Amino acid sequence: MNIKDAIVKNSTLSRLLKICNDEKFGSVYVVGGFIRDYFFDVQCKDIDLSVEKNSLLLAKKITNMFNGKLENSMFSTHSICFKHFRIDIANMRKETYIRPGNLPKIKLTNDIRDDLFRRDFTINSLAASLNSKDLGEIIDPFDGLSDINNQILRNNHSLSFSDDPTRIFRAIKYSNKLRLKIDYETEKQLYEYKKFIKNLSATRILNELNILLEDDFHLNFKKLSKYKIMTEIENNFIPFTDKISSYKKLPLSKLQKIYLLTKNIDKMVAENLYTKSPEFFEWSNGIKLNNKYKNIHFNKYTSSRNLHLFLKDLPREFLLFMELSENRDYVKKQLSSYLKKLSKIKLFINGSDLLDIGYKKGPIIGNILNQILLKKISGEIKTKSDEINFAKMKMR
Ligand code: ATP
Repeated sequence: MNIKDAIVKNSTLSRLLKICNDEKFGSVYVVGGFIRDYFFDVQCKDIDLSVEKNSLLLAKKITNMFNGKLENSMFSTHSICFKHFRIDIANMRKETYIRPGNLPKIKLTNDIRDDLFRRDFTINSLAASLNSKDLGEIIDPFDGLSDINNQILRNNHSLSFSDDPTRIFRAIKYSNKLRLKIDYETEKQLYEYKKFIKNLSATRILNELNILLEDDFHLNFKKLSKYKIMTEIENNFIPFTDKISSYKKLPLSKLQKIYLLTKNIDKMVAENLYTKSPEFFEWSNGIKLNNKYKNIHFNKYTSSRNLHLFLKDLPREFLLFMELSENRDYVKKQLSSYLKKLSKIKLFINGSDLLDIGYKKGPIIGNILNQILLKKISGEIKTKSDEINFAKMKMR
């Protein structure tokens, strides 16, 4: 099968061909992921179209055809979502970067080569025509096909990482996902321009970090560490990668991956990250929680009461992660007992019961309820009347 057959056999693209042939749109190309993934023989997640004219009109027509939902961005790009699939459409464009890490100035063009030049890597800078006169013809100005064959990840030009340092995160993602070797010059540029990661907004950094927390997170962690990427975001932010492969099979949520990556990082980093932007809350909090946990003095004979006092302020998702990753067996068991039993112990009575027996409103109510809970956790109190009697006894 060649790319022309792949287009015709693709249930989404084949339906688009008729619309794309309308001269109102000029040349229309499928670009990036679809072609790359075809050659790597992996399932493509979405379709990107680059169109010479009237991208909005094309987007509306496609939306109607697929009964999808259209979203237009402030950069005049359009996304159509339907049945867990997405088509992204943009007019062919050139980009100029005034300052490293800032968003580009955009100028429309009618040359697909300009549009391919602005893309990140040679393997993503391929276009295939959707017009009937040259259907499936591939435009490959940077030898992307040869890099695909040789499994190499290469920048389109030497200032690519300086223009847009988010591409450094993307380089890590693609090199791991598609098992590519990062080309020598590209790697040199990565080391040279990673300093511009500092110029990126927190939103853009977090967006890229999210990509790296999905598949292959253990490999992504290793490369983040190898290239010392996190320290460009904040000094001393050194990701945890110790025996990281042993975590790859654990069913970790995104937040739990953040807990893993933020093990063994100094508390100061948490403060500095949060000062930089409150958007870093999850990361900053991950560092704080890990530090709190590290200071807990577990021993083989930790009582239920102490276990409750140690763990009650830590979020359940964090404790579940610790239960999975803890390598001291006795602590693992204590965490499991806390999560399954102790944390579920509730009182029969509440604040209004205390008011009924004569307590006055105020912090004393919470204080007494806490004392009763501790007694219940240690097994000294069992029934509702035990709880009320204890409260009455404390009132005297
Ligand atoms: P994936 O399967 O990971 O979604 P994709 O190629 O579809 O792969 P997107 O992030 O959806 O990835 O981007 C679509 C295309 O837009 C890419 O193939 C690439 O050509 C281009 N692109 C995306 N982000 C950038 C960037 N920061 N700099 C340059 N080009 C980019």
